[in-house]
Amino acid sequence: MDSCRGARTAVIVGAGVAGLTAATALARGGWRVEIAEVGPPEAPSGWGLCLTGPSLRALDELGLADACLAEGYGMSTITHVDVNGEPADEVRLPRLMGARRPAMVGIARPVLHRILYAEAEKCGAVIRHGVTVAAVDQDRELVRVRLSDGTVRRVALLVGADGIRSSTRGLLGLEASLDFHGQMVWRALVPRPLWATGIHQFAGKTDTAGLVPLSDSQAYVFLTENGVEQSVLPDAELAPRLRQLLEAFPGRVQEMRSLISVSESVVRRPVLTGLLEGTWSRGNSVVIGDAAHAPAPQMASGAALAIEDGLVLAREIRRHESVGAGLQAFVSRRTQRCRTLVETSVAIAALEQTQRHHEAYPLADSCHRLMAEPA
Ligand SMILES: Cc1cc2nc3c(=O)[nH]c(=O)nc-3n(C[C@H](O)[C@H](O)[C@H](O)COP(=O)(O)OP(=O)(O)OC[C@H]3O[C@@H](n4cnc5c(N)ncnc54)[C@H](O)[C@@H]3O)c2cc1C
Repeated sequence: MDSCRGARTAVIVGAGVAGLTAATALARGGWRVEIAEVGPPEAPSGWGLCLTGPSLRALDELGLADACLAEGYGMSTITHVDVNGEPADEVRLPRLMGARRPAMVGIARPVLHRILYAEAEKCGAVIRHGVTVAAVDQDRELVRVRLSDGTVRRVALLVGADGIRSSTRGLLGLEASLDFHGQMVWRALVPRPLWATGIHQFAGKTDTAGLVPLSDSQAYVFLTENGVEQSVLPDAELAPRLRQLLEAFPGRVQEMRSLISVSESVVRRPVLTGLLEGTWSRGNSVVIGDAAHAPAPQMASGAALAIEDGLVLAREIRRHESVGAGLQAFVSRRTQRCRTLVETSVAIAALEQTQRHHEAYPLADSCHRLMAEPA
């Protein structure tokens, strides 16, 4: 694509959820898209994701919801269990794709990545691995993008979809602070217990645990560890430490605990959030997904925002005469929704820290209902 110049050409930085979705939506609208991904071609390993109604609805618009439902585990309820192991609340999430399809889907990350990646390539996006963006200049109606391999593109659109630690954001001079919330989150892949047909969340005396089905045979256990510093544990310590933290919970958590066996299936990450304070765009460049707004995982909606961003970006660019005007319309449509989600996730993280779960449930419920409104 070195020769490609100008009109309806885009460089997207990052082949994650936001970048791949934006690539598909733009390529379907006639754009020539190149993705610069710093990582290797292999799909990301690790735990799974819960894709809530807004993600599924957006994937359906791309024709990909049924593929995710076929390979993941469709479900519609979140059961909250109190510190004594008794059911405290059951939230039925809105079925945004009609009564016949479930409200959400649990899916392994590599499976979602494979589905999004294959579609982006099928639509003509060129995905290059092991490269990043080194410099960016707005040059009249075009953006001059220098990649880390020394090659240069002059394109009509640059999209930074390079995640919470986005370097594109810095190159564009956009400021975002990352906040740590005194929590580490754990994920462990386990065989799905037969009773797990929806999400289960267990309040603990200090921490919060849960289970999300990913397929008929697989699920992931999660644990949010409260009141801790950011730290890294050696891999060999992950499974034993997670089992130890789960010891404090009664009831079904003990069954889940007994399923955690090897450390390769366990990951531990800090709860970080980020939000751009001002605009997300400069000239013909924009940042989307976690690069612009990274919620805490408590609302299980970061991927929903990332997928919606890709769709709405392509739609607004199509609707406007110039790319710059399309980007401004995109940012003004997305800012409030994304801010509300990030702020709600931060509020829930704070309530969890003080075990005020009964206050967190209605907050999450009303935010899910707000997110059910069209993007
Ligand atoms: C523990 C945890 C659990 C979560 N659970 C859920 C959940 O259940 N449901 C949900 O909806 N969301 C969940 N999220 C949030 C979700 O994972 C993110 O919101 C989503 O992945 C954001 O997509 P993205 O494409 O913006 O960023 P990413 O998925 O982070 O993708 C960014 C891509 O850019 C690449 N990249 C990074 N830097 C560069 C660079 N300089 N140059 C080129 N490429 C680069 C990366 O390699 C990556 O491929 C969770 C997050 C965490 C941390």
